[in-house]
Amino acid sequence: MSGKVKFEQRDTLKEKPEGNLGFGQYFTDYMLSLDYDADKGWHDLKIVPYAPIEVSPAAQGLHYGQAVFEGLKAYKHNGEVVLFRPDQNFKRINDSLARLEMPKVDEELLLDGLKQLVDVERDWVPEGEGQSLYIRPFVFATEGILGVRASHQYKLLIILSPSGAYYGGDTLKTTKIYVEDEYVRAVRGGVGFAKVAGNYAASLLAQTNANQLGYDQVLWLDGVERKYVEEVGSMNIFFVENGKLVTPALNGSILPGITRKSIIELAKELGYEVEERKVGIDELFEAYDKGELTEVFGSGTAAVISPVGVLKYEDREIVINNNEPGEITKKLYDTYTGIQSGKLEDKHGWRVVVPEYK
Ligand SMILES: *Cc1c(COP(=O)(O)O)cnc(C)c1O
Repeated sequence: MSGKVKFEQRDTLKEKPEGNLGFGQYFTDYMLSLDYDADKGWHDLKIVPYAPIEVSPAAQGLHYGQAVFEGLKAYKHNGEVVLFRPDQNFKRINDSLARLEMPKVDEELLLDGLKQLVDVERDWVPEGEGQSLYIRPFVFATEGILGVRASHQYKLLIILSPSGAYYGGDTLKTTKIYVEDEYVRAVRGGVGFAKVAGNYAASLLAQTNANQLGYDQVLWLDGVERKYVEEVGSMNIFFVENGKLVTPALNGSILPGITRKSIIELAKELGYEVEERKVGIDELFEAYDKGELTEVFGSGTAAVISPVGVLKYEDREIVINNNEPGEITKKLYDTYTGIQSGKLEDKHGWRVVVPEYK
């Protein structure tokens, strides 16, 4: 389509890590780079050695936070390297860019560039159970000027990090969730629906507080009434109420997860009823008391599905399904990861094989 991307070879390749990879600790030999300035538009797409970059101390991204990112994974099975719904990530990065008055990118061009990068790095894609190559595209403002306005210059990079299985040896592990009632993550009209760096900066304090109290993650309530559930840390959230799958409807302050969207499609195909609507925190505790809240799980690229075993809100703590992953949770996890790995049929064309460019 756009031909081969320019390639700057490095002198020596790194040693590949062995053993426990963790998350986001190791980076491959190369990254994809694309620059923008107001006169030329996006230009100079190239694969370059992974290395520190020079930025102006006045780079606007550092001062005023014009910075967005994405996260997706490449998997290797039987020697084949596969991306999962990457088109959705590039669509979403454009929504995020638009919200911060940053220039949109050519989704096709980027996907082609990413495939070429991953092809170059295919030896870095780990093949162990649950392991993957985590892919982090991001864009930030680079113009060195302190005036408060949209930057005229930007840099886009895609870096790659071989990562370990989220659950270590286990298939699924439950988490303890703290319902945050002091801080909020996002409000409608703000940037909650966009994958912007600042959303994470704003969430760290609550996350640390929850950790200190012995919880893994924070569940965010809506920023206005603090009555309705929005999402968990960096995941969307699902509940099984009366056998139905319930998840908060996208409302402008919730991040529209690609895992969320895929889970909804799969659940419907599996014959479950799915409701996207406002979900009150009080409603959940009432349903729990009636024995109707049987499963809770988060969804996101990192864990795919993360079952919730404990939910703490104000002075109440409830234990969901004896602190074990529920039946529907397990079914959805197996189906989703089965499609990702190629063990189950990919009816939707979600798997995108990375070709060998040579
Ligand atoms: C990325 C993200 C998610 C999950 O999105 P996926 O596309 O499923 O990985 C959920 N919430 C927040 C705040 C996020 O940043």
